[in-house]
Amino acid sequence: MSDQRRLATEVSRFSVLLHERGWVANHDGNVSARTSGGFLITPTAVSKRLCAPDTIVRCDAAGSPVTRGGRPPSEVALHVGVYEARSDVQAVLHAHPPYASAFALAGRPLPPVSMPEVFVSLGEHIPMMARVLPKDPSARAHAAQAVAHADVALMAGNGVLTVGPDLETAYLRLELLEHYCRILAIVQGGVGAPEPLSDAERAHLLDLRVKAGLHRGPVVPPVARAAQADLRQVVAEEVRRALGEAK
Ligand SMILES: [Zn+2]
Repeated sequence: MSDQRRLATEVSRFSVLLHERGWVANHDGNVSARTSGGFLITPTAVSKRLCAPDTIVRCDAAGSPVTRGGRPPSEVALHVGVYEARSDVQAVLHAHPPYASAFALAGRPLPPVSMPEVFVSLGEHIPMMARVLPKDPSARAHAAQAVAHADVALMAGNGVLTVGPDLETAYLRLELLEHYCRILAIVQGGVGAPEPLSDAERAHLLDLRVKAGLHRGPVVPPVARAAQADLRQVVAEEVRRALGEAK
């Protein structure tokens, strides 16, 4: 078996593992491993459960596919950013494990790590990567920044990013981060409310949903929250006036 084939088999094995652990759903998450001149990555629009070695996409260092077949995921920029920033990194995982992702969705950075094993393995500070939406080109720079001084990061409004000298290490780091966040949620009595999407973010996501042919019903652009509040006040005043006149 060639080195490339062996690595594709490993990428697919960890992809299935992410699914089995319940850390991804639908087509979420991506797994990659560095090769000479680029990396191998799980394809877009395929469940991690079904990522067999033949489906794995070979990309150049900029994240463009170099072979025909599957396409890289829209989050490929995360992987490009990490490999550019950290020459020691050989594998990158992105997933949505529920507890760690809950903290990411709440957008509240984790307090300094207080559990000895986690402190030693992951470091005292687990960064929160800035919020980026699918296909946002700034994902590359934000991912590079997030792993500059850490091997794991929460991604605000999204999930987690973990890196390592091999897939097994990146996987164990993800497992530990999720386990720690689960314990933290118990100690804290919860995680908190999610940060809502802005109007611009909702408009961008609605556009992606429409383009993917998934949207049902009319396309109503998100109304600015301030405008919605004003509208509610106007309606309330009108109702009060009408009721007053009706007396
Ligand atoms: Zn994600």
